[in-house]
Amino acid sequence: ARRAALAASSGPGATSDGHKVPLLANVGGPADVPAAVDAGAEGVGLFRTEFLFLDDSKQAPSEEKQVEVYRQVLEAFPEGRVVVRVLDAGADKPLDFLTPADEPNPALGVRGLRSLLDHPDVLRTQLTALSKAAEGLPVYLEVMAPMVADRTDAKAFADACREAGLNAKFGAMVEIPSAALRARSILQEVEFLSLGTNDLAQYTFAADRQVGAVSRLQDPWQPALLDLVAMAAEAAGAEGKSCGVCGEAASDPLLACVLTGLGVTSLSMGAASIPYVRATLAKFSLAQCERAAAAARAADTAEGARSAAQAVLSGE
Ligand code: PEP
Ligand code: MG
Repeated sequence: ARRAALAASSGPGATSDGHKVPLLANVGGPADVPAAVDAGAEGVGLFRTEFLFLDDSKQAPSEEKQVEVYRQVLEAFPEGRVVVRVLDAGADKPLDFLTPADEPNPALGVRGLRSLLDHPDVLRTQLTALSKAAEGLPVYLEVMAPMVADRTDAKAFADACREAGLNAKFGAMVEIPSAALRARSILQEVEFLSLGTNDLAQYTFAADRQVGAVSRLQDPWQPALLDLVAMAAEAAGAEGKSCGVCGEAASDPLLACVLTGLGVTSLSMGAASIPYVRATLAKFSLAQCERAAAAARAADTAEGARSAAQAVLSGE
């Protein structure tokens, strides 16, 4: 029965009453594209460009090399959306030419957008390469920055995009609690938000995502995390802008329904999860998702949030 349900699951993501929630794929490069296309991804919600940089930690790949790789991903989704994240180096992904060697707390140091603002040449080359890669393609290119902390960060990124002449929407990832708390202010500078729930959980709970001993606090069902998601989604809704999720949270079918109920406008995940999320979302109305979201937020624990949402959606 599960197989039949999955086989029947195709087409755009939507709730049972037709509220559209585009289902997008997380990719690390062209090698991940065929699986995304096979799963019926409506585009890419997170292109982690750092994989291209990790091949050589001494220098950035040439502009030509970058154009070639970006173009292969962009070409695969004609008329679709492709959200490219600029280089997220540092912390668990150090690069010799960008990341200071002597940081006591790399996760709290110069990483993500911070390292790009310290190396504007690297950012400029990447934005120019993206601009050239998208030239003449019928794709909706969106470019976002990792680790945006506040409006100053968002403005610096948007300015760099404009200076590079990039014809795309510019966005900010919400993966630091300050960005969720002040989402409305960040949205004065950028056109969309994307929640990186892996880092958002790490920074909200002061729980290193690489340390298994604190994994309880990395659970995306934690009500405090749901509160921050709701805050960002509400701010985006009030500004008439979109707010997706591209962290692991989006790949849990039940949580995907809750995120939809919180006002998240698209979900991006590993391609293998797309059919499951699509099939589950199609079973419930937006109103049911909203009730499940409210029940989850009313809980005090991750476990409690999960079972409260489950109870609402199974009609208990
Ligand atoms: C996240 O932090 O949730 C995210 C999507 O980015 P990454 O996992 O690449 O840090
Ligand atoms: Mg992240």
